[in-house]
Amino acid sequence: MVIEKNIKNNQLKIINNQLIRTAPLLLLIILGGCKARQLTRPTPQMDIGPQFWVRVLLLNDVTACTLKIASPFSIISHDPRTPGIRNYPKQVNVPLRIEISGGRITIAGTPLTSSEAIIFPGDPYIFNLNGDDYRGKLKLQIGPDGSSFDAVNLVPLEPYLAGVVGAEMPDYWEPEALRAQAVAARTYCLYIKERFGSNRAWDVRKTQASQVYLGVRAESAQVWNAVSRTYGRVLVCKHSDGTEDIFPTYYSSICGGHTEDSKYVFGGDSFEALVGRSCPYCKDVAKPRFFFWPMVQFDKSYVTAKLSQRYSKLKQLGKITNIIAARQSNYGNFSRVTLVKLVGSTGKSDSLRAEDFRLTIDPSGRKLQSTIYQIVDKGDKWAFLSGTGYGHGVGMCQCGAQAMAREGKTAEQILSYYYRNSRIEIVY
Ligand SMILES: [Zn+2]
Repeated sequence: MVIEKNIKNNQLKIINNQLIRTAPLLLLIILGGCKARQLTRPTPQMDIGPQFWVRVLLLNDVTACTLKIASPFSIISHDPRTPGIRNYPKQVNVPLRIEISGGRITIAGTPLTSSEAIIFPGDPYIFNLNGDDYRGKLKLQIGPDGSSFDAVNLVPLEPYLAGVVGAEMPDYWEPEALRAQAVAARTYCLYIKERFGSNRAWDVRKTQASQVYLGVRAESAQVWNAVSRTYGRVLVCKHSDGTEDIFPTYYSSICGGHTEDSKYVFGGDSFEALVGRSCPYCKDVAKPRFFFWPMVQFDKSYVTAKLSQRYSKLKQLGKITNIIAARQSNYGNFSRVTLVKLVGSTGKSDSLRAEDFRLTIDPSGRKLQSTIYQIVDKGDKWAFLSGTGYGHGVGMCQCGAQAMAREGKTAEQILSYYYRNSRIEIVY
């Protein structure tokens, strides 16, 4: 769901803004010879209930990483036999190597007694992992075979969102578009946490697989404003059993002219808020190069290899000899491929959702930007022509949201347009 953008030195901007606002106070401090006050923005919600903490998978299956913390911190061991808190007051701002050795995690050479531990930085609750700052706490957990570990950021929902909104949308966009983004990202995160979090040791990834999270690097005054002004606000819609609840508020960069019903793109449950909506807006905001993407070609042997590697059921097809757009949405003169039929050299055929097909042959999604295209057989290659849009096209169109905000629409109006019949509810 990411949009290309340049992350500026937002941390510096925050500091500069605060410097301007606090100039007289600073002058007094300097003249008085007192210690300068902490200029980093504090981390909110550190005392909120566990249902609003997000577990973000930062590192998966790694054997080493480097941790640096600018405040005194402690390490909380979770071994019931030897529980305890170890304080590290002398290792402030010192890079600490974390490694796996002999089936144990070692921190600066000292082994931990348990298979998992939580590193708890002091105020302002920020740690640096491999060069990036994150808020909250860091959980280290040894993998099942004892040869690698995962690093999971435990972060309250609102500071988590500050690291998402600025990564998913340029912070110089309209405030109402940023607010709509904050509500969509908050709802999406809570939904994924409730739906999948209980089955695994983390709730969301930090990538487009969930929503992009860059930690403190993505923050700015505008981003914090969008998050704070929508504090605790989520979207709910009617579910198939008649109850009203949060739903997966998908969003994508450029829908290309019409958003898509989620059931055709992702399958699974259908939600009345996630039906296709006409979007005359994104064309005005998106760069032409991203709205209309150039022809992409893939070798047929590459396509067969990628598909059979990802889906073992497709091996029985042999070499894929034909790809047919088996189902396309039809919204007037707009059409998105939602199902592809694959015909193989063995005479057998099978089908895949077009979004799964797209991300199997182009996992980054940067070349085959969407499923709005025509498929053409070019001998030993498949060509995808007349491509439009960027992303899966379900839910809010981010460039469309920016265009609506420019027209003077509020975040609420943008959200109720892209998520039909949804309404805002306050969770805390
Ligand atoms: Zn759009």
